[in-house]
Amino acid sequence: MLNIVENRDLHTGVPRWARPPAQILPHGSRPSKAVYDAVVVGTGISGALMAKALTEKGLGVLIIDKRDPVQGSTLASTAMIQHEIDVPLRDLSKKIGTEKAQRAWRRSAKAVEDLSQLIAASAYDCDFQRKATLFLAGDEMGHRAMKDEYEARLAARLQASYLTGSEVQNRFNMHRTAGIVSIASASCNPAKLTAAILNDVCNNGAELVSNCRVEDFLATNADVTLRLEDAGKVTAKSAIFCTGYEIFKPLRNEAHNIVSTWALSAKPRSAVPDWLQTILVWEAADPYLYFRMSENGELIAGGEDEEFEAAHFNPQKLVIKTDLILKKIEALTGLSFYPPSHRWAAPFGTTATGLPLIGAVPGQPNIYGVMGFGGNGITFSQIASQIISAQIDGKTDPDADLFAFKS
Ligand SMILES: Cc1cc2nc3c(=O)[nH]c(=O)nc-3n(C[C@H](O)[C@H](O)[C@H](O)COP(=O)(O)OP(=O)(O)OC[C@H]3O[C@@H](n4cnc5c(N)ncnc54)[C@H](O)[C@@H]3O)c2cc1C
Repeated sequence: MLNIVENRDLHTGVPRWARPPAQILPHGSRPSKAVYDAVVVGTGISGALMAKALTEKGLGVLIIDKRDPVQGSTLASTAMIQHEIDVPLRDLSKKIGTEKAQRAWRRSAKAVEDLSQLIAASAYDCDFQRKATLFLAGDEMGHRAMKDEYEARLAARLQASYLTGSEVQNRFNMHRTAGIVSIASASCNPAKLTAAILNDVCNNGAELVSNCRVEDFLATNADVTLRLEDAGKVTAKSAIFCTGYEIFKPLRNEAHNIVSTWALSAKPRSAVPDWLQTILVWEAADPYLYFRMSENGELIAGGEDEEFEAAHFNPQKLVIKTDLILKKIEALTGLSFYPPSHRWAAPFGTTATGLPLIGAVPGQPNIYGVMGFGGNGITFSQIASQIISAQIDGKTDPDADLFAFKS
């Protein structure tokens, strides 16, 4: 059996959003037609936003997944919808040049705004909340590096406020040498958001098929034919592979690294300060730590990444790592959360620049890919839907070059 997409387990343990299950419209296990305008492979947040952008352009869209809908990495996401990219702006500038780095950061901030507007305009029920972010100094960046980062953000015309160690202490009662507060982020329930978008696009004419694997493809200048496991073939003018950390093999290269990460939810055992309800916290440390509150007052947190992909299968590590995350948060905030109510682990994709890979697949006409998401997967999914829907329309997004696949 051919398989042009990698296979991997996308989470272990019990993700916070696994219950109650996402409500998705009734859907089939085989496509009802042989020909579509576009086929979107994957029902995670990338596939959902891609299908939304394409149906809004009036295209007849098939969305297809080898699993049930929304059972991939999106179900494991902690859903901090951040405009801040994993690689700080001052570091990204060194890697790809200041002009490109500034554009990537500004585009990321715009994506959060665009996604917020889309969610509001469509009235999606997904516990969406606008939030600020607090980026804390840690063992990777002390107060001087944080000041540099703050100045880099101002130079890029990005809103940010620099806090000294004593200001961090006074405002947040946490001991760190510096912090940067920004206002342009958000959070949500990622499973509810993705299910709501899929329901919306199906109500607007798209077709959803699950438990049907795309095994192979043939791309010509005229169209694309996808071979489906036990379900024949479908043809479309374009196909977009939104298969997340199960990488579309023609795009696999050294830019992708799959590591392991851990996450948890926990109910507070003591009163939580008001600021924590409205701020996403992350730190410049390795392994890093991040946390936020959910709409119903639970802590959602993660980190402790390890280089080895197989590590997330280890049941002892699931307990040790999630306990450690919670202990670090308790030590930092002085709040009590132990024990976790949900603990989960997952593979997690990274790239050296923190930027995803989005666009036309070199040498394969009418085939597009959306890969290489790290901690900004939701924000980058919004950007991907804009870039690729423009390309399918024969237009060029002004930031497409930042994310393009190199042949
Ligand atoms: C623990 C954790 C925490 C995270 N936290 C955040 C966060 O706070 N903020 C953030 O923005 N991002 C976060 N991310 C990243 C984010 O969740 C992902 O980038 C995003 O969910 C990926 O969405 P996707 O649609 O690309 O992939 P997925 O949700 O994995 O969807 C891909 C789909 O493709 C399907 N598929 C694969 N191969 C085939 C095939 N051959 N045929 C048919 N279907 C196929 C799969 O079954 C799957 O359903 C986190 C990730 C993890 C694991």
